Amino acid sequence: MRRRRTNTFRLSPNKEQEQRLFELADNCARMFNEVNYKRRQSFFSGNFDWNTDFFYHKYKKVIGSATAQQVTRKNNEAWKSFFALLRLKKEGKLPKHIRKVSPPTYWKDRKTGKRVLMILIRCNCYKLEEKYLKLPFGLKIRWKGQNRWEGKQGRLEIRYDDLSRRWYAYMPVEIEKPLHQPTGDKKKKAYADLGIINIITSWIEKEKRPEIYSGRSLLSDWWYWNGKIGKHQSIMEKNGKRKTSRQLRRLFKKRQKRFKHSINTIIARFVKNCWEKEVSEIVIGDVTRIRENSRKKMKGRKANAMINNFWSFKYTYERLRVTAENHGIKIGKKEEKYTSKTCSLCGKIHRNGRKHRGLYICKTQGVTMNADVNGVANIANPIFPKPYWRDRDNWLVAQPSVVKVKTTTVEPPTL
Ligand SMILES: [Zn+2]
Repeated sequence: MRRRRTNTFRLSPNKEQEQRLFELADNCARMFNEVNYKRRQSFFSGNFDWNTDFFYHKYKKVIGSATAQQVTRKNNEAWKSFFALLRLKKEGKLPKHIRKVSPPTYWKDRKTGKRVLMILIRCNCYKLEEKYLKLPFGLKIRWKGQNRWEGKQGRLEIRYDDLSRRWYAYMPVEIEKPLHQPTGDKKKKAYADLGIINIITSWIEKEKRPEIYSGRSLLSDWWYWNGKIGKHQSIMEKNGKRKTSRQLRRLFKKRQKRFKHSINTIIARFVKNCWEKEVSEIVIGDVTRIRENSRKKMKGRKANAMINNFWSFKYTYERLRVTAENHGIKIGKKEEKYTSKTCSLCGKIHRNGRKHRGLYICKTQGVTMNADVNGVANIANPIFPKPYWRDRDNWLVAQPSVVKVKTTTVEPPTL
C-alpha cells in the first residue's frame, strides 16, 4: 500500500537567492495561468484541447524544461480531477460535501488578487542535504525544520507565504511501513464518536471507563480569536471601504492554525493511547452525521457559525485516519444504522431522551448517562458492557474520565 506524507521545511534564502525564487515562481504562475486560460477557453467553446506545446517552448527557457513539464503536469492533474468529478456528477455519485463542480482556477489569491507564487521541482532534480536544499538553477538554500518522513521523494513544491513573507518547501514522500506497529492482540478494537464539544469520546475494549477528549478549550480559543477578528473588522468598517487587510488575514490564519494544531494534539494523544493499549482497529460512527447531531446539541448563532465550518470535521477525520495509519492501526466504520437519539441500553428512541447539559436518559431502565458515551456505546454495541450501566444507584460510575490535553504551541503551516 502506498502512503504519502509531506515534509515541510522553511527556507532561508539570501537576498540574491530570494530574488531568483521570486522570478522563477512568478514565471511558473504565469505559465500555469496561461495554460489554464487556453484550456478554459477551449472547454467553454465545447472543444477541449490538451495541447500546450506552445507554452512549454515559451517557458522552458526561463524556468527550465523539467519545471515547465511539471507545471503542465500540475495543470493536467487539475483538469483530470475536474473531468472525473463531472463524470460522478452525471452519474449522481458526487460526494455530499462537494456542492459545485467548476473548472480549475488560476494561481491567484482570491482575496488579494496577487499571483500565487509557487515553484515545482521534478522528483529527481533536487536533493535535501543536511543543511542545504540543492535545487536546479544553481540554487543551494538553507532549510530549517524536521525531515520526518523517509522514502521515495516526489515533486517538490516551493511556496511563498504572503502573510509571513517566508518561503516554504513541501516535499512529498512515499513511505512503505507505518512508523509504529501494533504490538499484541491482533483483534482489539477501540470505538470512537467524533464531535465538537467533545472532540473524541472513546471506549477501548476491556477498559472499564470510556474516555472523553474535550474540545472546550479549543472552542473558547476559537471564540477568542473570533472576537479579535470581529473587533478588527468593525474598526475597518468605521474607517472606510476596505474589506480586508493584511492584519485581518493574519488573524484568520492564526485562528485556523491554532484550531488545527489543537485537533492534531488531541488526536495524537488519543491514537498513542490506543497504540499503548494494543488496539489494532478504531471503529468510528458515521462522520457525515456529526454536523446534524451537533446542531441539536448546541443552539444559537454561535454554534451555527462553528458548525458551518464543515472542513473541521473533514480535517478531524483525515487527521485521525493518517495518525492511526502511522501507528499501524486501521480505521473502521460502524455499518449499522443508529442515531444519536438511539438508546444504547434498550435500542429504543426515547422522546426527549437527549437532555440539556449533554445527558441522555433511558426511561425504560431509569438510567441517566453522558450523551456522548451513549453515542460511543451505540458504535460499540452489542459488546459495550451493559451490566455496568444497570448500576442504578451508582450511575455516576458510568461517567467517562476526561483526558486533559495541553494544546498551546503552534506548528508551521501545512498544506
Ligand atoms: Zn433506553
